[in-house]
Amino acid sequence: MERDTLSAILADLLQIKKFKDYAPNGLQVEGLPTIKKIVSGVTACQGLIDAAIDAGADTILVHHGLFWRGQSACVTGWMRKRLQALLASNINLFAYHLPLDAHVSFGNNAQLGRLLGLAVTGYFGNDELGWLGAPMPGTQFDTIEVLISTLESKLNHTVLAINSDSIKGRVTRIAWCSGGAQDWFEAAIAAGAQVFISGEVSEQQFHYARESGVAYLACGHHATERFGVQALGQHLAQEYGFLHEFIDIPNPV
Ligand SMILES: [Zn+2]
Repeated sequence: MERDTLSAILADLLQIKKFKDYAPNGLQVEGLPTIKKIVSGVTACQGLIDAAIDAGADTILVHHGLFWRGQSACVTGWMRKRLQALLASNINLFAYHLPLDAHVSFGNNAQLGRLLGLAVTGYFGNDELGWLGAPMPGTQFDTIEVLISTLESKLNHTVLAINSDSIKGRVTRIAWCSGGAQDWFEAAIAAGAQVFISGEVSEQQFHYARESGVAYLACGHHATERFGVQALGQHLAQEYGFLHEFIDIPNPV
């Protein structure tokens, strides 16, 4: 498929124009004009770029691209090395940030809900980025302890559980937003959640949790954002016949 065709398909599928993002969504680095093999991954780090080159990819698809608002515009240090590797190998880099958190089936939040067996009951915050749900029949979390152990085994990551001791009985009102969504905690509290699941947490959320009686489960930024880009890559492979490989570059944060 032509690169520009894929770019248009993804722009439409992920509705990139809908989002005010702090990163450019779409083609960030131009490579070969024809696309055959896509490597997907969470972040366009050097490890992923090198692995994609080794895998013979002509295209990398990520959630976290190279360019963010407020970062230095100079091509030095790690930026120079990553760009040099991409350009020398003629690899396209496509990145989708908020559109890939929010997408109703391929998004990180949709995939996280599916992984946990949650039925979506609503959204909170902007752009449907905060999700609300309840355990589906048959996958009921009797207690918050079961929810925590389910998260740890499905995400293969330790959960930092804050104020979970105060949540007694069945957990039925769960809010989640993948990655670095600690600032969404107050909106989750306002939306009536008993527990909020995200990737990262900051100092002040500990106090908000204790003082509002809502539990905060920090499950890892990387660990909660591995599923969207994978689902999108699989979809592109099935729908358009690309070769696709997800490559995980582990990150404990
Ligand atoms: Zn993220």
